[in-house]
Amino acid sequence: MAALSRSQQVAATEAVDPERSGSLGHFAPAPVLAFVGLGANLGNAPATLAWAVQALAALPLTHLVAASSLYQTAPQDCEPDSPDYFNAVAQLQTQLSAPDLLTALQELEHQAGRQRPYRNAPRTLDLDLLLYGEAHIDSAQLTVPHPRMHQRAFVLQPLAEIAPLRVSAQQLQDVANQGVHQAGPLNFLQPS
Ligand code: ADP
Ligand code: MG
Repeated sequence: MAALSRSQQVAATEAVDPERSGSLGHFAPAPVLAFVGLGANLGNAPATLAWAVQALAALPLTHLVAASSLYQTAPQDCEPDSPDYFNAVAQLQTQLSAPDLLTALQELEHQAGRQRPYRNAPRTLDLDLLLYGEAHIDSAQLTVPHPRMHQRAFVLQPLAEIAPLRVSAQQLQDVANQGVHQAGPLNFLQPS
């Protein structure tokens, strides 16, 4: 029989040792640090973002590590009279796979009444998977790191607030003219 690789040995150990695999009692994927970008500009956007952060914290196999404060931005690439956007970024530790996390994000968008009448339409809630550990993913449904995150001050500023090592000073400088400002605390339950 072929020798087990180191990762197979770890998996095999965790599969039979409930203490090491937590309450699942079977092999649990290693936790990954993921960052989710939140945005809304329809309805009570700040309240929706606060609800969404709580909902992210309640996802299965997932803990909320940190959430940024609330940021407010004039809309870009939108109809002239679109309401301002509110944005935030949340950091999760999750054992969900990246596709499963995307599905969970889309389910929360749906629960918040998200509709997609046309590209860049105003939205009750937009949840984008910005980073999933160090993974690079390029599938039909999912691109990670999010392809436009480095063009957007409303992503980079809240991301830099909670994960300063993930954003360089140059990247912040490159988007500094986009008129994003901090709009106060995001009212949500404290991270567990
Ligand atoms: P946008 O966020 O660009 O305004 P949508 O929220 O409507 O657009 O997302 C459109 C599609 O983008 C989704 O159906 C999803 O499959 C895809 N997508 C690709 N990569 C990502 C990502 N990293 N996070 C969220 N959605 C993504
Ligand atoms: Mg989106």
